[in-house]
Parts: sequence; C-alpha cells; structure tokens
Amino acid sequence: METLARPQLRKLQDKRLRKLALYVYERVPFYKKKFDEWGIQPADIKGIADLPKLPFTKKTDLRDTYPFGMFAVPEKKLRRIHCSSGTTGKPTVVGYTEKDLDLLAEVNARSLAAAGALPGMKLHNAYGYGLFTGGLGLHAGAEKLGMTVVPVSGGMTNRQLLLIQDFKPEVICCTPSYAQTLAEEFQKRGLLPEEISLQFAVLGAEPWTEAIRNQVEKGLEVNATNIYGLSEVIGPGVSQEDVEEKGSGSHVWEDHFFPEVLHPDSGNPLPEGKDGVLVFTTLTKKAFPLIRYWTNDICSLHFDAASKRTHVKMSGIKGRADDMLIIRGVNLFHTQVEEVILEIPQLTPHYQLVVTKEGPLDAIEVRIEVTRDYLQSLGLQKVKLENENLQNLQKELIYKLTNSMGLNMKVSLRNSGEIPRSEGGKLNRIVDLRR
Ligand code: ADP
Repeated sequence: METLARPQLRKLQDKRLRKLALYVYERVPFYKKKFDEWGIQPADIKGIADLPKLPFTKKTDLRDTYPFGMFAVPEKKLRRIHCSSGTTGKPTVVGYTEKDLDLLAEVNARSLAAAGALPGMKLHNAYGYGLFTGGLGLHAGAEKLGMTVVPVSGGMTNRQLLLIQDFKPEVICCTPSYAQTLAEEFQKRGLLPEEISLQFAVLGAEPWTEAIRNQVEKGLEVNATNIYGLSEVIGPGVSQEDVEEKGSGSHVWEDHFFPEVLHPDSGNPLPEGKDGVLVFTTLTKKAFPLIRYWTNDICSLHFDAASKRTHVKMSGIKGRADDMLIIRGVNLFHTQVEEVILEIPQLTPHYQLVVTKEGPLDAIEVRIEVTRDYLQSLGLQKVKLENENLQNLQKELIYKLTNSMGLNMKVSLRNSGEIPRSEGGKLNRIVDLRR
C-alpha cells in the first residue's frame, strides 16, 4: 500500500471517498444536515476531485455534538473511547469500532517500521497511556509489528532511566521535549550516549525542529524521526518520517487519511510547499468518520520523487493556528525562534518565550540556556552578564532573531537547568503574561 503507484492510489481514494460520502450522509445527522444545506447529494461525490464541494468539519462542531453526536455507529459497536489531550480547551471525544482499532494498530506498525523498528526489538513506550491516544496507539502498532512493548507511560523519570538501562530497548517513543529531558538526565548520571541501548526514537505530539533532533540524537545516540497524529483523525500514526529520508518530511498514510493544505482565511487549496492549514478526510474510519477536518495545524505538503514510498509528505508542523503569536503585527511561531537558536552552538535548545505588555505594545523575551561547556570555556560556573563574550552572544542572538523575523526581541541568557523541562507530556514553551 505504501508503494502503490499514484494512479492506483488515487483510484482507491476515489472509491473510498464515494463510499464515505454515502456512509456519513446516512449515519451522521450532522453531515446529512450539512450536505442538505449545501445542496449536495452523496452521488455528486465521484472522487477526490469533488472534495472541495464538501463542507469543513471544525473543532467547534465536535464540541457542539459532545460527547457522541458525531458517531456513525450505535454505542454498542464501540470498542474504545479516547479524548484529545485538551491542549486548546475542552477535550474532544473520539470512538473506535473493532475495525478502527485494527487501523490504529496498522498505521502505527507502519510508522514504527518506517522509523527503523523491526520485529523482535523492544519498544520503551513513554507516551501517556489512558485517554490520550499516544500510549495505546503506539502500543498496538508495536505489538502488530512483532515488537516487545514496555508500557512505561509518561513521567517518573528515574524509573524510566532505570528501565532503559536494565531492559535495553532499541526503540523509544515519547514527546521530543521528554526525549530532551531523558538525554539530559542520562548525561547528569554520567552515562555516555554510546552506553545507552536505544537506536531509534519516534518523537511527536508537539512541534519540534532540527535543533531538538540534533540534541536528542547526540544525547541518546539514536536516529530520531517524527510521528504526527491527532485523536480526531485516529491518534498517532497519521504520518511518519522515514529513518533513511530524515529531514524531508513525513509520509501521510493517505490510503486512509486524505490531506489537504488550505489557505487559513479563504480555504482555497495551496500549491506544494506552501504553508497553510492541514485538513483531513478519514477515508476508512467507521465509528468517527470525518470530512475535511480543519486541524488548525500549519504545514505544507509535497511529493518526493526520490522516496521509496509514493505517499505525499508533510513538512514539520510550524505550530497551531491558535498558538501563533501576533507581536506588534508580526506573526510568529515558537518553532521559528527554535530554528534561529540552532544556528548558535553556544546555546541549548532549552528556551521559553515570554510575552508581556509594555504600555500599549506587546513585548517578547526569549529566555535561553547557555551550554555548560561554553560557560566552562569562559571560566564561568554561571551566566555573568558583565562577561563580554556573553554580551556578544546575546547581541548575536538578538541580531539573528531581528533579521529573520523582523521583530525586536529581548534575550535573557540563562544557566543550565533554569528553563522548565518536560515531565512526560507536551511542553508549553510560551508564557503569555498579557492577560
Ligand atoms: P490536543 O489537540 O488536545 O493536543 P491530541 O492529543 O490529539 O490533542 O494532539 C494532536 C495535536 O498535537 C495535533 O493537532 C498537533 O497540533 C500536535 N501534534 C501531534 N503530533 C505532532 C508532531 N509530530 N509535530 C507537531 N505537532 C504535533
């Protein structure tokens, strides 16, 4: 399925979309009403080319039908219920039939395999278990692939370190910020990266950049790849980066999840490589099918002719449309700051953006840790602002940030360990003190 020629893949998507249009029209009152309002009959939908005729589904639609109003099967047919993490408000509820759970396992098995995992390897699964889809989703995928799962869940870092040392897993999955925490804690305990058994890290659930990848890959001596997903669409395993094609985007498993990238205001399709809002249609889900679900995640799509697979690739997520900071009229995602930090080797990727008001104007401060090695090379234990080298470092970062974003930012250099770390889940790098 992953290497199916594009024309055949499109045929399959067309067929699945035709079936889906009828399925939701007959089973989900929300969609029947929407189709009727828009004057669309399921028979009008002949294939993917007709997708733009269909209405969007927004997060508010899910909230308005809370908890089970969007389900397409009777409650007795459900085998599991999950919720989104609730990062941006009240969590949304999603349901799975037996077939949907098979799909969750299938796409996560695919993702783990693309990340480098093989049957027989052990997976240290540090994604949260419970209502959040991450833990159980990757768990099912690993079992399907024939791996041994260590279902650790998030948090309790000391125990995680002990289990990694004793059980010697080859693969870990967790949020990128938690992988940073683990790498740092191993270092504090004097364990060298080459002494850690891990070979592959499958990281996702929050935006991250090459800066974090470099740090995690060095700190744990692993190959780190990106996994993307969201509860509404299935959970983890909507897209995954191939370990041999790192940095070129993540394959969307588009035989099941059809992606579009659209202009945030007009909703018009954007060309390959242009950033916009990612929208998904679930082509095969049974309990909770979605038509053109507006994820709010910002990224771009492109085809990679050099890839082993035919499926479209998505870029890393810049951020969520509702996480975008607007500072004195300039739009800003924290990942843009992260990219600038990467260019300066004396800085770590541990940072926080603090937004305040200065009179009527918004002001932003980047708090960033200086590496221990650099401080030591200056003969310092701690950051001393009277040090000329540190003053120059601060100036360099301010200059680079202003140049790349067209915005004046303050920079505050911090000691190692001062910026909050992930304790297992998603890390919030923005502190907004304006309200
Ligand atoms: P919530 O929206 O409450 O966090 P989920 O737990 O379902 O709900 O998380 C899904 C969201 O997490 C996505 O919409 C996206 O914003 C973010 N996310 C998931 N994986 C990635 C990733 N690899 N890169 C960037 N963001 C991601």
